[in-house]
Amino acid sequence: MNHQDQRHSLANIGKEFHANKWSLGTSSNYSMVVCRNPLQLLLTASGKDKGALKQSDFVVIDENVNVLEGAPGKPSAETGLHLLLAQLSGTGAVLHTHSVWGTVLSDLFAQSGGFFIEGYEMLKGLEGIKTHETKKWIDIFPNNQDIGALAKMVKTRLGDANNPTTHGFLIQNHGLYTWGATLFEARRHIEIFEFLFECVGLRRMMA
Ligand SMILES: [Zn+2]
Repeated sequence: MNHQDQRHSLANIGKEFHANKWSLGTSSNYSMVVCRNPLQLLLTASGKDKGALKQSDFVVIDENVNVLEGAPGKPSAETGLHLLLAQLSGTGAVLHTHSVWGTVLSDLFAQSGGFFIEGYEMLKGLEGIKTHETKKWIDIFPNNQDIGALAKMVKTRLGDANNPTTHGFLIQNHGLYTWGATLFEARRHIEIFEFLFECVGLRRMMA
C-alpha cells in the first residue's frame, strides 16, 4: 500500500468511526507503520475532523517525532503512545477512539485500574483468543497530559513478564487504544472492544 492508499484507508476508518460515534469532532487519532527500519509512522495531524479526513490531514514522522512529510510540528498530541505501540514487534497500525462506553467504563473502573470482560463470544474477535471462556483484563491508565509519563506507564505494563497488557487499553475518562498487525486487524479490535464495552456497560445497568 502506498502513502496515498494508506491515507485513503485511514480516512475511511475515520468516516466509519465518526458515524459510530467513536471518533466525534477532532477526537481520536490513527496511525500506520510505513517503514519498520528505521521506524516511520503515518499519523493523523492534530485537530482534524475525523469524519472528513483529507490527504493533507496526515503527517509522516520518524521515531524522534521529526516530521518527514506534511505540516511541520503538527502530529497528534498523543504521538508518543503511537510510537510506543508501533515499536512492538508485529504492529502495523494503531487506532485510538473516544467512545461513550469506553469513556464511561474507564471512569467507573478507574479506581481498580481496570476491569474484566468475561464469557462473551465476541472476545474471539481479539487476535489469538480462541474461546469465549476467556477472562480478559482491560487496563485503565490515568489521563496524564504528560504523554511521556503516560507512555512510560503503558510500556511497563506491556513488558510485564507475568500478565502483560495485550490488544488494547483504556485511558481514564478519555478513550481506547488498540493495535494490530494490519490496519484491518486494528480496526477489528476497535469494533470488538467497543461492542464488548457496550455489553459490559449495559449489563451493569440491568443488574
Ligand atoms: Zn485521545
